[in-house]
Amino acid sequence: MTTAVCPGSFDPVTVGHVDIIKRAAKMFDRVIVAVLINMDKKPWFTIDERLEFLRKATEGIDNVEIVSFNGLLVDFAAANGADVIVRGLRAVSDFEYEFQMTLTNNKLNPEIETVFLTSSAENMYLSSSIVKQVGVMGGDVSPFVPHCVLDEIISRIKQRSKVL
Ligand code: ADP
Repeated sequence: MTTAVCPGSFDPVTVGHVDIIKRAAKMFDRVIVAVLINMDKKPWFTIDERLEFLRKATEGIDNVEIVSFNGLLVDFAAANGADVIVRGLRAVSDFEYEFQMTLTNNKLNPEIETVFLTSSAENMYLSSSIVKQVGVMGGDVSPFVPHCVLDEIISRIKQRSKVL
């Protein structure tokens, strides 16, 4: 059985994330979506919100689990029996950071491979930051986030814009 980890901050989940998770779920027996608790950049959404939105957005995909994690990704992967880390690759701008992280993780644990899935053409530009930037200015974020969590995401962004 091959287990893959899809790590990220998912602050909040976008249709780009869901696309990568769905494609990974077709390739691997078990997919663990690992949501990083402590990020350098302060998250807009709490860990519970990020987990809940992902659970709703991936409902019905039987081999996907949504969990939180802290600490080293390779340690989390090894502790959960994962052989592979899956990352999405958007533009050239993602490449340098991803390359550095992959080589670092490989030094820390050579048993765990990193696999990249290229972004679908329609999601190439999309990021959680774009959702927050557009949302806080009152723009329509419906093309960017899964429909089932759209209202919750809009309402949290509105709360957030009041305190900014
Ligand atoms: P991080 O903060 O670790 O970059 P993100 O939450 O931004 O995590 O993204 C989680 C994963 O989803 C990463 O592998 C990232 O490359 C991928 N990803 C994010 N947005 C897209 C997108 N629009 N298309 C494809 N992959 C994406």
